Amino acid sequence: MKKIAVIGSLNMDLVVNVEKMPKVGQTVIGSNFKEVPGGKGANQAVAMARLGGKVYMIGKVGNDGFGKTLIDSLKKDEINVDYIKKEENTPTGVALITVNKDADNSIVVAPGANYKLSKEDIDDSIKVLEECSIVVLQLETPIDTVKYVLEKSKSLNKYTILNPAPAIKLEDEIIKHVDLLTPNETELEILSGVEIKKEEDILIAAKVLIDKGVKELIVTLGEKGSLYINKDTYKMHKSYKVKAVDTTAAGDSFTGAIAVALVNKKNIEESIDFASKVGALSVTKEGAQSSLPYLKEVIDFKG
Ligand code: ADP
Repeated sequence: MKKIAVIGSLNMDLVVNVEKMPKVGQTVIGSNFKEVPGGKGANQAVAMARLGGKVYMIGKVGNDGFGKTLIDSLKKDEINVDYIKKEENTPTGVALITVNKDADNSIVVAPGANYKLSKEDIDDSIKVLEECSIVVLQLETPIDTVKYVLEKSKSLNKYTILNPAPAIKLEDEIIKHVDLLTPNETELEILSGVEIKKEEDILIAAKVLIDKGVKELIVTLGEKGSLYINKDTYKMHKSYKVKAVDTTAAGDSFTGAIAVALVNKKNIEESIDFASKVGALSVTKEGAQSSLPYLKEVIDFKG
């Protein structure tokens, strides 16, 4: 089976429930503390592996307990972890997540070792890029490294997918190496500089990025579905109707599913339909990696 390389973040999410968010200077008592493996890179790698993808993860953790736990959890999903390095004297990335009784959250991310992923680390993992057919990236690792991976991947003739989250304005030299971009609406606004007030604005914003060299975009629109756009055409794909309980990692599951479908030679229509099922299933369960469905659930899902 063809391999997928994921170059991205691994975080330990530290989650606490509170009645009310603390104000500045205030201490409140929380409950239900949980340590949950996360990070967009790891979430997408897990999404792919559960859907039958052969996944190699390239990333960095600290030489500490959280790092070990994160690597072990990826191994459980049969992800190759040989190219996840341990950085001395830098902690594993963490996200401090507080959730109130209305399910609103506030999040502080300390990227730690994720921000130490360097060009040299990519050179040390070049075998993975050479052997895979699709390379998947997000923006939770240093931008210079993301750029380097995209350049290397294109020089090796690989198909590149960038899930541009969390969004920042990207230089044209980065954008031109992206085959498929999977932003949500907010991310598309930031990347294109086009304010999105009505549906037509999505096409205008996408065109800005296509003119800079992106081959295809899938703009995810939550429960509304997703919009596929290339330089010649566009098509709206409705989402599947489900009872949503927690939308965390919907975007990660969607991008992961697209990569698996494409590596299995599905066309873009079939791939988006598959990913829409996966995205819908992911919102029916709580959490990030805990909500990512297995292939059998997707096959059994009638929509
Ligand atoms: P992100 O988490 O990056 O903001 P979205 O919320 O747009 O991503 O979700 C990605 C995809 O997951 C959507 O395009 C859609 O197909 C599916 N999805 C998300 N929310 C729902 C929902 N409430 N019901 C059904 N499908 C959903």
